Amino acid sequence: MTGWGLIGASNIARQYMIAAIRAQPGHRIAGVFSSNPDRGAAFAREQGIPRAAATLDDLLADPAVGCVYISTTNEQHHDQAMAAIKAGKHVLCEKPLALDLRGAREMIETSRAAGVVFATNHHLRNAGLHRRMRDLVREGALGQVLAVRVFHAVHLPPALQGWRVNNAAAGGGVVLDITVHDADTVRFVLGDDPVDVTAFLASQGMGAEGLADGVMGVMRMHSGALVQFHDAFTVAHVPTGFEVIGSDGALVARNCMTQNPVGELTLRRDGTETLIDDFDRGDLYTRSVANFAAAVAGTGQPSASGEDGLWSLATALAVQQSAESGCAVPVSIDP
Ligand code: NDP
Repeated sequence: MTGWGLIGASNIARQYMIAAIRAQPGHRIAGVFSSNPDRGAAFAREQGIPRAAATLDDLLADPAVGCVYISTTNEQHHDQAMAAIKAGKHVLCEKPLALDLRGAREMIETSRAAGVVFATNHHLRNAGLHRRMRDLVREGALGQVLAVRVFHAVHLPPALQGWRVNNAAAGGGVVLDITVHDADTVRFVLGDDPVDVTAFLASQGMGAEGLADGVMGVMRMHSGALVQFHDAFTVAHVPTGFEVIGSDGALVARNCMTQNPVGELTLRRDGTETLIDDFDRGDLYTRSVANFAAAVAGTGQPSASGEDGLWSLATALAVQQSAESGCAVPVSIDP
């Protein structure tokens, strides 16, 4: 039996990840650590987790814990992952991996030296719809990819309007929350990396203390494809979407930048529009954990590696720097 330690009594753990871990044969949740002992105990009770550890070291010292899932606020990911890696645990870490590239790279290099699996929980590359788009792009169904348009502007539910909108030190703001997912999904679907970005930020009523609650920008990819993205916490009334526009055709997906296995996908080519609905509609997080578990067992690879998390962070940081400077900023994964 592989035991998991949860670092963070979080909403995402409660809503998706506990069930995703428990869906894996031979995996169980052995303990949870919260910075607040009462919250930790209540969370363990509510979720049927055998113990709430008093300290992070206490959780990491538990021999029943072989893997950890980190879903605390963003500024804590680096130090908690480093402690877990040094304790010999495999680590599935939430995005953004860290608040700077040096920290994220240190996590990757230390895990490599320790011989443990280290992965990023980018959920969207686990969606059947996005995998179907990637396959169609790879097969050449669109010809040369010219452009991508990402619509990831949502209305953040009140329950999630805490640190995301009022705590810059915790890594709040729309760019570290949502743009990282766009960057990862674009890299995944196109099989291409960004070269540089330009962006504008907005603070339109939800983001406190100057934290951005909206962003629009453009990435330029190695292939020359241009990627337009719009992310927000403040936008209701429009669906999310992802479009890949090629020389010979286009993929148009709607309602697909989401945590659930939903969405509609059409292929437009030769004057016809074809609904593509034969993609896998399995749970995104269950697939993320299954691939992580396979990597731990030595039989597979995580859906999103540490390097993938480094790329998405590098892109997000370049977006922020571009907005601050008013200039295009190169995307580099070297600190
Ligand atoms: P939450 O706000 O639910 O939890 C983050 C931390 O806040 C928890 O670890 C907890 O600290 C603390 N906390 C939880 N509830 C309370 C409370 N009632 N009062 C005070 N503090 C509280 O965050 P999310 O679950 O929304 O996000 C956690 C991480 O997961 C982030 O890094 C985020 O970016 C990522 N995420 C990723 C998603 C994905 O699809 N990949 C989706 C959603 C989030 P403690 O543990 O110390 O008790």
